[in-house]
Amino acid sequence: MKIICIGKNYADHAKELNSAVPEEPVFFLKPDTAVLPKQSAFFYPDFTNNLHHEIEIVLKIGKNGKHIDPKFALTYVTEIGLGIDFTARDLQEKAKQKGLPWEIAKAFDNAAVVGNTFIPIASTGAIPELNFRLDINGNTVQNGKASDMVFPVETLISYVSKFITLKKGDLLFTGTPAGVGPVKIGDRLQGYLMDKKLIDFKIN
Ligand code: MG
Repeated sequence: MKIICIGKNYADHAKELNSAVPEEPVFFLKPDTAVLPKQSAFFYPDFTNNLHHEIEIVLKIGKNGKHIDPKFALTYVTEIGLGIDFTARDLQEKAKQKGLPWEIAKAFDNAAVVGNTFIPIASTGAIPELNFRLDINGNTVQNGKASDMVFPVETLISYVSKFITLKKGDLLFTGTPAGVGPVKIGDRLQGYLMDKKLIDFKIN
């Protein structure tokens, strides 16, 4: 499986990074080794001093598809969950300044923490109605509404599938709202989709 991540899909987040809202979806990949294995502890990586959380709605792809028409896009999604697109912001800034790819900042081992629980799309209600949040040590740091996405999920699926075949089991991270920031050892991260806790782990 692969992980496809959308960048700058919420205007308020693009703004906090001093970036323009993109005219077309922007995406990048994380390898399957980026998924934190179930029941494994998360350890703060030693190559960064500025590890940022990015809470995102994650779509699980249920069948293979290429050149997917937006009007059929949701038939390719089986489940919805939450994930954290961990970002070594210091390494990313360095790469961006040099115009280099930013894989070392985004694709490293355990850089995709995905909740153990996914909800069947049939029971989540319409995606634009979904809201989600990340709490750190009990304080809400990010709060998102899917209706604020710059590009709706149908557009994302259609756009990505023009370039890359989607396969059953792939994960699509749909972008993070404003409020990204650093985590530190000892923090407890809890992610909620419509008040259902889907993510709960500590930084070791
Ligand atoms: Mg992200």
